[in-house]
Amino acid sequence: MLLVASPRVGAEEKAALAGVIDSGWLTMGERVRAFEEAFARMHDVEDSVALGSCTAALHLILHALGVGPGDEVLVPSLSFCATANCVLYVGATPVFVDIESNDMPIMSLSEAEARCTPRTKAVILMHFAGYMPDRDAWRSFAQRKGLLLVEDAAHAVGVKGVGTYGDAAAFSFYGNKNMTTAEGGAVIARDRTVREAIRQARGHGMTSGTFQRISARTPIYDVTMLGFNYRMDELRAAIGIVQLRKLPGWNEARRLLTSLYRRQIAEYCPSVGAPFAEPRASAYHIMPVVLPEHANRQNVIDRLRAKKVQTTIHYPPIHLLTLYRERFPDTHLPKTEDFARRELTLPLHLGMDRDSIETVTAALAQAVNVRAASEVAA
Ligand SMILES: *Cc1c(COP(=O)(O)O)cnc(C)c1O
Repeated sequence: MLLVASPRVGAEEKAALAGVIDSGWLTMGERVRAFEEAFARMHDVEDSVALGSCTAALHLILHALGVGPGDEVLVPSLSFCATANCVLYVGATPVFVDIESNDMPIMSLSEAEARCTPRTKAVILMHFAGYMPDRDAWRSFAQRKGLLLVEDAAHAVGVKGVGTYGDAAAFSFYGNKNMTTAEGGAVIARDRTVREAIRQARGHGMTSGTFQRISARTPIYDVTMLGFNYRMDELRAAIGIVQLRKLPGWNEARRLLTSLYRRQIAEYCPSVGAPFAEPRASAYHIMPVVLPEHANRQNVIDRLRAKKVQTTIHYPPIHLLTLYRERFPDTHLPKTEDFARRELTLPLHLGMDRDSIETVTAALAQAVNVRAASEVAA
């Protein structure tokens, strides 16, 4: 089966893990710190904070920025549920915003503006499929409205400029992301005080960690805030250090695979849309396509599966998930709903080459055209 995503791990990651075991120190320590420094360098920023997941990163960002009950936060509905869940964690209210179009399936700035109220406190951008939204436009919007600007950058690791749009950004190193630590996340934040608040909140709100205490003169610590256990460990950080070195080459390889896809889709199945037709900076995290209006998506999925090609859907809109539909029954986002009804995510990972992309596009062309032929017959 040709999978939608597949992690790239091997001998170097194994050796890094063995190194941690041999060192005798497994929990957050020197390797986590080294990973944070390397991650910051890659993104041209002063520092970063490593965490247990991107979900923890989103939670601690809103927590540290003081978003809470009574506040509204603008979020895309075309995203993973964590983008909205983090708003509920801090007791604030997510306000779902429609996408721009099927070609530009990222949060629409004019729709975001239309949903602002006196309670709006923050906006969370998500770089869908890894493609970067217009930085200047979003910055000036946030400034004009006095909003905190947060990036859910789970799809966009390693892209130039990511994490520097506004106040803070959250990254994911989950197993299907562009680089992985199995589970893991990180934060980039502009203000040192925000980074320090996140650092403290990830470890129970304690004033020092276990590692600092063994090297310090006194084992005393204090707890000065209600924190969490959102730490990364040395095993994950060791994998992350190896993966980070390979990331630029991997993102470039994804760019080449994506442009191959675009050319073949245009040639073999022109009725299928490939979003982000205009070139823009990206981590090329996934390969979403939009099926023709009248295609039966389940039939297409079944036909691709029969040819051993896995596909997935990004995403079932968050506002239509039961948890959210019950809380926000009046939310309607026509563009998001149309996109989500027709979207299909094709395999895109580093185990692929020209041949496997041809296999997918040939199967896709056939799956879409069979339907067209039956319609003609009817
Ligand atoms: C994967 C993902 C997350 C969650 O990441 P975890 O590290 O699994 O918590 C959040 N937002 C988006 C857009 C994602 O794709």
